[in-house]
Amino acid sequence: MYRLDDFMADLERRNPSEPEFIQAVREVTASVIDTVNDNPMYIKNRILERITEPDRVISFKVEWEDDDGNIHVNRGYRVQFSNALGPYKGGLRFHASVTEGTMKFLAFEQVFKNALTTLPMGGGKGGSDFSPKGRSDAEILRFCRSFMTELYKYIGPDTDVPAGDVGVGGREIGYLYGQYKRIVGENTGVLTGKGYGWGGSLVRPEATGFGTMYFADNMMHDMGTELKGKRIAVSGFGNVAWGAVMKASQLGAKVVTISGPDGYIYDEDGVNTPEKWAYMLSLRASNNDVVKPYAQRFKAQFVEGKKPWEVPVDLAFPCAIQNELTADDAKALVSNGVKAVIETSNMGCTLEAAELLKANKIAFAPGKAANAGGVAVSGLEMSQNAMHLHWSASEVDERLRAIMGSIHEECVKYGKTDDGYIDYAKGANIAGFRKVADAMCQLGY
Ligand code: GLU
Repeated sequence: MYRLDDFMADLERRNPSEPEFIQAVREVTASVIDTVNDNPMYIKNRILERITEPDRVISFKVEWEDDDGNIHVNRGYRVQFSNALGPYKGGLRFHASVTEGTMKFLAFEQVFKNALTTLPMGGGKGGSDFSPKGRSDAEILRFCRSFMTELYKYIGPDTDVPAGDVGVGGREIGYLYGQYKRIVGENTGVLTGKGYGWGGSLVRPEATGFGTMYFADNMMHDMGTELKGKRIAVSGFGNVAWGAVMKASQLGAKVVTISGPDGYIYDEDGVNTPEKWAYMLSLRASNNDVVKPYAQRFKAQFVEGKKPWEVPVDLAFPCAIQNELTADDAKALVSNGVKAVIETSNMGCTLEAAELLKANKIAFAPGKAANAGGVAVSGLEMSQNAMHLHWSASEVDERLRAIMGSIHEECVKYGKTDDGYIDYAKGANIAGFRKVADAMCQLGY
């Protein structure tokens, strides 16, 4: 019989100074502890202890030279958390905030997210504390080459397949894949998020943003309404936010905010034209990490140093980074009449924020369900690479929509409470956990 506090006390002792990892494990364990205690097989197989310990944590030195000839040292990581369901799979994050604990929390979340997609993928994550902000294209190329010169030893198309994440988009995947190919001499699709001309899948760049809107549309149906006509706040302005604003517009909703580290944009007309979407991409490509220029370009309002959660909206989509939506933000959203919060960044809400939303019976979707569209289409990219062919955009998009539909169904199946409120976070945790735990029991230790 497990008790949450005892289990967590032991985990905290073994993982000191890793608050994000501890937060992620606590959130999952709280949801699944009854499932574990009710299942003698899970207890006998020590699933809780085994599922919260990564298979391995790889850390390596990355040396690179800037444009002025100065040498820099960064730290690179790959956390291979679980390959119970398939090859390790998950993105690479290049961001100054990256630590070993960040990588472990992201890899842990990835295990359950990937399980939810129903595709044969285990969970992993990697990256570096390198910040692309202000770096030239040539510097990013040199960093990527150096990073892959270490990473290539640990990955392979049937062992571990990295992809992008914060700070790693199409350009970085190109440089990384180029170096892998140069060293190993193989074109086997060891990374996903590749360019369309060299093994990438159509709809992969848009997939996370499209998927989260499909998921939100299904949630709206649970509430007897639809996404069409809703007012939406989005944070971030990268790849995920870009896909989200496009799909929201296509589904007839209006996104009125995007944000960056410098503040947020309030665009009452909506971020809803191809010109605005292309402009978001150009802001990202400039490596300056600011959204302010959008306000001048499209006559919108720029609110310096603040997050968009103070704007009255029906739905909020945190699409930037972990713990970006706090209890105070959740309070502001609730008092402004928000109907649902759809976490699209990984662990975008603090534990307190998520609890506050649930206490107020606001629909709350966790990142591991809502943002699974990205890795799902990565899985489809792996299938296309293995078959040496390409699917059309509509074929990939249909599969993505079906996968998001099945994730939503699983969340409802395991998350519906007696009063009819759907605890999507609990549902996602139980559904993902059961898949991995069952496989671990069958595979032995
Ligand atoms: N980084 C994305 C995520 O958090 C995508 C991972 C992938 O495509 O492998 O799920």
